[in-house]
Amino acid sequence: MKSSVNLHACLAALVCGCGQMAYAEGGGTVVDGAAIADESQTANWLSYGRTYSETRFSPLTQITDTNVSQLKVDWYLDLPDARMLVGTPLVVDGVIYFEAGYNVVHAVDAATGAVLWQYDPQVIETAGERLRIMWDQSRGLAFWKGKVYSATIDGRLIALDAATGKELWNVMTVDPELPFFITGAPRAFKDKVIIGNGGTEFGPIRGYLTAYDADTGEQAWRFFTVPGNPADGFEDETQAMAAETWTGEWWKHGGGGTVWHGLTYDPELDLLFIGTGNGAPWNQRIRSPGGGDNLFLCSVVALDPDTGEYRWHYQTVPGETWDYNSNMDIVLADLDIEGRTVKALMHAPKNGFFYIIDRETGKLVSAEPLGHMTWATHVDMETGRPVEVAGSRYEDHREDVWPGPLGVHSWHAMSYNPGTGLVYVPTIDLPGSYVDEGIDVEKWESTDWGFDAGVAPPFVADIATDAGTSALKAWDPVRQELVWEAANPGAWNAGTLTTAGNLVFQGHATGELKAYRADSGEEVMSFDVGAGISAPAITYTVDGKQHLAVLVGWGGALAAIGGSLNAQFGWAYKAHTRRLISFSLDGTAALPEAAPPVIPEPLEAPGFKVDEALAKEGELTYSKICGFCHGTGVVSGGFAPDLRASAVVPSSVSFAEVMHGGSRRAMGMPSFSGLSKEEVTALQHYIRRQALPKEDLP
Ligand code: CA
Repeated sequence: MKSSVNLHACLAALVCGCGQMAYAEGGGTVVDGAAIADESQTANWLSYGRTYSETRFSPLTQITDTNVSQLKVDWYLDLPDARMLVGTPLVVDGVIYFEAGYNVVHAVDAATGAVLWQYDPQVIETAGERLRIMWDQSRGLAFWKGKVYSATIDGRLIALDAATGKELWNVMTVDPELPFFITGAPRAFKDKVIIGNGGTEFGPIRGYLTAYDADTGEQAWRFFTVPGNPADGFEDETQAMAAETWTGEWWKHGGGGTVWHGLTYDPELDLLFIGTGNGAPWNQRIRSPGGGDNLFLCSVVALDPDTGEYRWHYQTVPGETWDYNSNMDIVLADLDIEGRTVKALMHAPKNGFFYIIDRETGKLVSAEPLGHMTWATHVDMETGRPVEVAGSRYEDHREDVWPGPLGVHSWHAMSYNPGTGLVYVPTIDLPGSYVDEGIDVEKWESTDWGFDAGVAPPFVADIATDAGTSALKAWDPVRQELVWEAANPGAWNAGTLTTAGNLVFQGHATGELKAYRADSGEEVMSFDVGAGISAPAITYTVDGKQHLAVLVGWGGALAAIGGSLNAQFGWAYKAHTRRLISFSLDGTAALPEAAPPVIPEPLEAPGFKVDEALAKEGELTYSKICGFCHGTGVVSGGFAPDLRASAVVPSSVSFAEVMHGGSRRAMGMPSFSGLSKEEVTALQHYIRRQALPKEDLP
């Protein structure tokens, strides 16, 4: 049945609410630890990575490598207010739960697409100027015993009644005075819900993870990933131990180490594994000038799930200085390696190595390069430490390093298929150019609420369309080698799903949803969904029928900041409808004809004379406060309007109304009232300079 937001859907929400009835009266699934741990059940998708193992492997076999080419649209739901859709929906007893736009939670009938309820946490209103530091994206929700948990961009954790969408409790998990945001999915176990946060590029942030009582929202424990100011006393001996690995006055810069993505609970070992973030700022010469490993940056840390106490850690990047965080997904499997069964933790962080860690002990089992890297040659198996290449720390010179800040693998979900024994990893090949020339490392201070990582401003020069590449890699985690790979368009890709139907699903930047044979990589399906895909697909059943669902809406870092490298796909601001699509083998719906890709044309403004000196001044301001949303070099990737094409910018009055007066606040554009009139004018000249024909650019 076709169902965009239409009369049918509205009526269903008003009079039917069948999903709710099924839950309340039908003795539906009790979503507890046993349910989330159950690898064999196939109807539901109960947690971010499907089960606690986070393998994103479904045993479903109705859709296979031989019939997947027959997949048709069963229903779709238009999400006109959303832009970046990067999340993994949950499915519980025939209801899909997901977030779209600014954390608007949707409950939708999984068989028809009819909207059952929506909950809008009013993020734009609540976040206010805090919207400067994040886009409209969320990677997912948690579910526990009849409640849905949403973590909002502005830092709240909210519990909703899954049957009705009614708010049950709501806690602020961050200090609103500090530039924290949340994009990650909460996780639930043992009647607790955990959530971390992000923000290391925007100010003096000290990373942590908090557990709350699932029923009441009361805080159960908090684990800090980096030590605070010694003068305040350390919380415990773990923090004192971590402080031994820092130098200088790191606490003034926060230290970083935010827990913004990879988390999973292991019910068998009763351990919680967390992936930690990069330093704040990236540049270690500022953050910890005498060096040191800087624990627990860029690490996998095992914690006691009841108390948050430290159990073990493995650090992937000692003394990090490139934004090589270790936040990426943590996938658990038992692997037969050299004649013994290893309780493995699989992890492919930004730094480019694929790690197998013994999750009982935290001991490194193996690590091999998953992609191109120039910062290190290998991991020394005696010490477990990477062997760095001299010069890669950009000491006194500019250094192009592989990978760049986007990493070889980012948050895009990898999946593990126990049938093929392979891990399907979306990988990126894009260098970074690092330099701290012109920065006084002794006096550097972060720009509160502006992007500044203690290296030269990154969002100034446009990024060429061929600056990087990406690929789906099928990786053998036991032999630590590549088995097959499929090129992805551009340098930013989507997460994966794998099934017992010998399939791997992955969306592309071009708007095609692809399926590959899991064992050989042969492409067996390509379906044009009309907009770029960043989210991973999920699969579930209703009344025994297998569905495949995916959120369609180009999103994530490169989709915002990526300049021409990203803009070439044509997903211009609000030009293409975002939607949730559900497929099946007997679907009968058809998507509306897609709008063609749109490449914004810079506006000619002959009356506006660019002053090059002013433009040069505005460049740094743009990099700190604008580029993160409006794109590197003022080439938008589609999250926010392309300012080169904006009629607002050439008008000093209109531009000031937006920047100082907040006239576009309702659309998600925060005001920047702290900027001086001169700074706004300089910004205007820089943006208009970037709008000039290429041959006129300096
Ligand atoms: Ca980072």
